[in-house]
Amino acid sequence: MQQLAAAVRKELLARIYHLHEEWTAGMKLACKHGCSTCCTQSVTMTSLEGQGIIEYLRAQNRLPELAKILAQRKATRFTALTTNAFAESCLLGMEPAGTVHEEWDYTPCPFLAEHSCSIYPVRPFGCRAFVSTVNCAATGSAEASQLVITVNTVYTQIIEHLAQGQHWGKMLDILACYLQDGPHHNKNDAEGPLRRAKPLPGLIVCREEEKPVRAILERFMEGEVFGQPIRAILGIEAALQR
Ligand code: SF4
Repeated sequence: MQQLAAAVRKELLARIYHLHEEWTAGMKLACKHGCSTCCTQSVTMTSLEGQGIIEYLRAQNRLPELAKILAQRKATRFTALTTNAFAESCLLGMEPAGTVHEEWDYTPCPFLAEHSCSIYPVRPFGCRAFVSTVNCAATGSAEASQLVITVNTVYTQIIEHLAQGQHWGKMLDILACYLQDGPHHNKNDAEGPLRRAKPLPGLIVCREEEKPVRAILERFMEGEVFGQPIRAILGIEAALQR
């Protein structure tokens, strides 16, 4: 994929957020305003999403608040593979070359204020993807259908594709690195808590889910952004055939 203009990436990310919101709005979920059980420091994202959060905080004169949050954060050791790196190993039939499930950090997210998200309009996809059909505060874990999990994974892969070459990792690490170095990942992955976002290698979708997943993808890829067909911008047709 050619390096996409920042405005195009931003527009496509907004389209994913919108379509996902529209899709989950039709579901019977236990999630409601004030419920924050899933708001922990384990949320992962890309620099693309970090940029939106920083712009939002800057517009609200909240960058000093962010600086304070970042100064207080614990140093993390994070070795998880990105979603596309994991998918690539699976598609090649290879053992994943890294951690697949990192131990969960249950420390509350610092953007929580009175059990509400203080950056709600720009919260990353990792937060949007946490939906549950049961009250997880009561049961101790979330529940979602396999299709919801698959679609969330597909959108996560496409967001990583849009952000390829940028940083991928835990939310606070991304924000800290973005402020210091900008969006592009120029580091050795082994040296720190961040990975490089990778292009989409293909999807891991079982046969029964192919049809609904294709329909959701088609809906995302129809239309244009700044006069260019989304399908052509993304360049993922070949990967989708794998
Ligand atoms: S960013 Fe918002 S929605 Fe996401 S974990 Fe933090 S408080 Fe929760």
